[in-house]
Amino acid sequence: MKTCDFLVIGGGSGGIAAARKAASLGAKTIVIEGKHLGGTCVNVGCVPKKIMWNSAIIAETLHDAKDYGFDQISPSPINWLHLKQQRETYIHYLNNIYKRNLDTSNIEVLSGWAHFTDNKTVRVNNTTIHAEHILIATGGKPQKPNIPGSHLGLTSDDFFKLEKQPKRIAIIGAGYIAVELAGILTALGTDTNLIIRHEYPLRQFDISLQKALIEMLTQSGTRLYKNTKQTSIDIDNKGHIQTDAYQNTTVAGIYAVGDVTGRLALTPVAIAAGRKLADRLFGSKPEAKLDYNNIPTVVFSHPPIGTVGFTEQEAQQQYGIQNIKTYQTQFTNLYHALTERKTTTVMKLIVVGDQEKIVGIHVIGIGADEMIQGFAVALKMGATKADFDNTVAIHPTAAEEFVTLK
Ligand SMILES: Cc1cc2nc3c(=O)[nH]c(=O)nc-3n(C[C@H](O)[C@H](O)[C@H](O)COP(=O)(O)OP(=O)(O)OC[C@H]3O[C@@H](n4cnc5c(N)ncnc54)[C@H](O)[C@@H]3O)c2cc1C
Repeated sequence: MKTCDFLVIGGGSGGIAAARKAASLGAKTIVIEGKHLGGTCVNVGCVPKKIMWNSAIIAETLHDAKDYGFDQISPSPINWLHLKQQRETYIHYLNNIYKRNLDTSNIEVLSGWAHFTDNKTVRVNNTTIHAEHILIATGGKPQKPNIPGSHLGLTSDDFFKLEKQPKRIAIIGAGYIAVELAGILTALGTDTNLIIRHEYPLRQFDISLQKALIEMLTQSGTRLYKNTKQTSIDIDNKGHIQTDAYQNTTVAGIYAVGDVTGRLALTPVAIAAGRKLADRLFGSKPEAKLDYNNIPTVVFSHPPIGTVGFTEQEAQQQYGIQNIKTYQTQFTNLYHALTERKTTTVMKLIVVGDQEKIVGIHVIGIGADEMIQGFAVALKMGATKADFDNTVAIHPTAAEEFVTLK
């Protein structure tokens, strides 16, 4: 039997971050991974998705090139297999980096699927490991809707295995992954149909973003089927592990972070929660926990969305409708001054009280993906509208509109 201080099940974003932090604080740490190091983000999530998004942006730029005077350049069909191979080579390179980083942190990695045999003991293949502290960071799995024929459909994991570009596709879902894949495929020339259950996709986002997104999706050629009826899935049956604010499960000594907890399913959230947990267990910081408020996020739609803080509706519920004010603008980015193809930029600030403290920042438009991180710092620090107004604009950019809103 092996023993360690900290046993991590799952070598994805949360598991690796927690393991490396714990090891740096002196804990003898073992990681068990059933598939590939790096987990969803590296292998079938953020990284391959962003590569596909980049290729879609290039396709759009090629389309716009003639309007900027490059009249010899025209959009051409993409060599899908070449792109897939390049993407996989890069992912393989990242898998090796993860392995090297774990090795240099003196963390033992065991390959295989872990099973609990009791509260302090886990089995993988023929090895038994005993640990005082065990972290479950096993992530999530794509779900297929419970409707006849759904076994014939593909999940996002399957999408990355495709060797050929689909000519036509129907995507069911209104979450960010469905929206992103619809945008990518449309830009690359696939006849794309997006099927959603309600009026708008991204229903947890500010309504200004939902409306602008739907307009631009349709304009770009994605066919949208709204208010469709499908068998609904009860969220509680997804098998999420309940955790408290400190990532404790109901069993002492067993913790969970990341997608398996059903909280914000984002890589940096899993990483931050994992590191805080290691700090609390091994770093003499008994109060360390992740603040799940005001976590910024981006949707890599076309154009992208950046958002942090409350939506208008949430702010009204939190502070009362009479205490909320919004500042909003809508314009066409200067990039499109010459292009036949257009996208709209919509920006919105939500402020509260006489001080006009900023509690929500929302943007859809070119550059939103790189813009929102800095503004999220300002929101987290408690910036007011006056602080934004006192910041000199950078011209000509889209971001400057946030400091000149009237
Ligand atoms: C298509 C797609 C796009 C995404 N894009 C983004 C994005 O742009 N930005 C962003 O922040 N997030 C994005 N995400 C979400 C992000 O990938 C996840 O939030 C993140 O990977 C969660 O990390 P985790 O550690 O909780 O789980 P994972 O990264 O899923 O890691 C869990 C690991 O545990 C392993 N495992 C499971 N069970 C066992 C077991 N019993 N024994 C051993 N190993 C086990 C799995 O093989 C896996 O490697 C995307 C996800 C998808 C699917």
